[in-house]
Amino acid sequence: MMPERTPYIAGNWKLWGTRAQASEYCEKLLALLPDASRRPADVGLCVPFTALDVCVEALAGSGVLVCAQNMSAEESGAYTGEISAPMLLELKVDGVVLGHSERRAYYGETDRALQEKLPVALAAGLKPILCVGETEDEREAGDMERKLRHQVGEALHEVPDERLADVVIAYEPIWAIGTGKVASPEQAQEAIAFVRALVGGRSEEAAQAIRVLYGGSAKPDNAAEILAQTDVDGALVGGASLDPEDFARIVAAAG
Ligand code: PEP
Repeated sequence: MMPERTPYIAGNWKLWGTRAQASEYCEKLLALLPDASRRPADVGLCVPFTALDVCVEALAGSGVLVCAQNMSAEESGAYTGEISAPMLLELKVDGVVLGHSERRAYYGETDRALQEKLPVALAAGLKPILCVGETEDEREAGDMERKLRHQVGEALHEVPDERLADVVIAYEPIWAIGTGKVASPEQAQEAIAFVRALVGGRSEEAAQAIRVLYGGSAKPDNAAEILAQTDVDGALVGGASLDPEDFARIVAAAG
């Protein structure tokens, strides 16, 4: 029997959200979302480290997950500026975004580092959202599948088959992130089905259970069509998640 995959809509605040803004945002969002039992999707917020505890407290009991936007694979030591899994757990954080294209492009995040981070997050009980995706040049050169095969294969290499389904993958074509240039529903479906098939190369059971999200200029007016695609299990939303009303409309579009 095919497992039911609960859609997941996660907002990525990127570099936005003082503690005061975070607290105000959470209050507004909770007023706009239906109760957890009537929500069409799991909902998460990926927020700056300094806003994590504010969001955990403001969203306690609401079912809205709180995620960090990065994490070190190390537990402690001489790694100035880094944050470890135990530090996130201490704040009662639920998950962590790993390998966002902005971290890959601007901060040297590598597939090899992600290979270490994913098992650490899973062992700690943090739900990872692994981001993958091709550039416009790679797509135009017909290299999308090669890029995705490489990124997914490397990042999941040390994740045991029985834990694969605990990872959430966000397919985020880099040309669509923050550009207003959204992938067509067909493009999203095709790439996400390919990502699922890559997981199927490891475990068919995991491929049916793993959630693969779309990310890249998702907005209230384009979300429903993308989310309706067979293999699209939700969205990672950047810009549009900064407005609680827009974000709540995208959550509603998952229904
Ligand atoms: C993101 O930050 O992962 C993202 C998809 O951003 P945007 O929705 O702004 O394109």
